[in-house]
Amino acid sequence: MSPAVRFTTTEPPFRFRQGTRPLLISMPHVGTFVPPALAARLTDEAQGVPDTDWHLERLYDFADTLGASVLVATHSRYVIDLNRPPDGASLYPGQSVTGLCPVDTFDDTPLYRDPADHPTEAEIAARRDAIWHAIWHPYHAKLTEELARLKAQHGVAALWDAHSIRSVLPRFFEGRLPDLNLGTADGASCDPALAAQLLAIGREATGYTAVLNGRFKGGHITRQHGKPAQGIHAVQLEMTQASYMMERQPFDYLPDVAAGIQPTVRRMLEAVLAFVERALVCGAPLRPAPNPPPPGAHAPPAQRLLRQG
Ligand SMILES: [Zn+2]
Repeated sequence: MSPAVRFTTTEPPFRFRQGTRPLLISMPHVGTFVPPALAARLTDEAQGVPDTDWHLERLYDFADTLGASVLVATHSRYVIDLNRPPDGASLYPGQSVTGLCPVDTFDDTPLYRDPADHPTEAEIAARRDAIWHAIWHPYHAKLTEELARLKAQHGVAALWDAHSIRSVLPRFFEGRLPDLNLGTADGASCDPALAAQLLAIGREATGYTAVLNGRFKGGHITRQHGKPAQGIHAVQLEMTQASYMMERQPFDYLPDVAAGIQPTVRRMLEAVLAFVERALVCGAPLRPAPNPPPPGAHAPPAQRLLRQG
């Protein structure tokens, strides 16, 4: 048996802070921890976890002020990718992607030091099961639990899946990526009116470019947890790292650069909160029903269109 199959880790699967308003911010790719037994098999470059969504907690340092709950991954995506489906199915069939348990970097270089150590499909499957139990499942269980709590407490909930990526990555896209890539699973994960508001905020940001459901349409988290008909609106924001940090080693946060984009991200999250909280006032239950409707009962659509009076 490969040693990697006996997966152990000293780190909890996530960090979590509970807020006061109906918004959960998820950061599935900010983790940098790789258990030593696995790290020993990685190349020097891979041990530096270059494909991390660096510094997002700092960029979103206003989250607590907004009253958002925040869920933060601890392990590197090289251990397991929390934004991929558990069966490893491709998010973008026909396009180059990295997998649930990746074997290469965004630059298409091998993660594993020794070609003989490159995990086989069978090993990846076995490791996937072990890591799924230790990391992937707890993260998603927490997402589900917190969204259910927000929904029960507030009647609606919003999920913001926060990401960042290098602005130029020929493996995945041609040219330079727009700075603000909003993804709503082509409209399936959140109310289209909210998505339009967010896109407008992005396009109003001087000096930045924004797109909705372009190259990045939202990964597994957005697609799995966004259920607008049930009052849960999910949006993924994939930002260029050039908007706030150095895209190469040492991947430093650049406060003066970040100060340019931070207000726009904050405006987007304020718009999300205003949208779901207005939805509450305009038609959704003002407080959770004491008992959920029976299975099969007609569920009201997302309650945003009905204005009082
Ligand atoms: Zn990411």
